[in-house]
Amino acid sequence: MNRVGIGYDVHQLVEGRKCILGGVEIPHPVGLDGHSDADALIHAIADALLGAVGQPDIGYHFPNTDPRWKDVPSKIFLEQIRELLRGMKVTINNIDATLVCEAPKINPHIKAMKAVIAEALMIRLDQVGIKATTNETMGFVGRKEGIAAMAVASVETP
Ligand code: MG
Repeated sequence: MNRVGIGYDVHQLVEGRKCILGGVEIPHPVGLDGHSDADALIHAIADALLGAVGQPDIGYHFPNTDPRWKDVPSKIFLEQIRELLRGMKVTINNIDATLVCEAPKINPHIKAMKAVIAEALMIRLDQVGIKATTNETMGFVGRKEGIAAMAVASVETP
């Protein structure tokens, strides 16, 4: 059976944190705040995959109260979800995601992000879609207070 899931995440931009998106560290004067590396793109993809198989969200599987996940690369969450899906005999058809931010510029890093995500999920590069857009200076994203990401996943269940 073909099933789909949706994911959304947002993290604040603050000083003194790295800006890691799609598993790629992007040089930027501010970074994303959170318990893990706060990689909003990977978190949205993780939730899309979990949603596709009816699992509870990323906060359930990797709680921000658990010291194990403090400052970890979020790629680890994708690797664990990959194994969860494998155990359920679920295969990934494709994932697609959009980052919404005014800065940094995302396009130069998309190729590298796709490589990280494809490797973590053990899927092909052409099964990973990543796009970026601005919020046309409106709202919290427009004021550069944070970065938002949304994702969908399509999977095949037995
Ligand atoms: Mg998050």
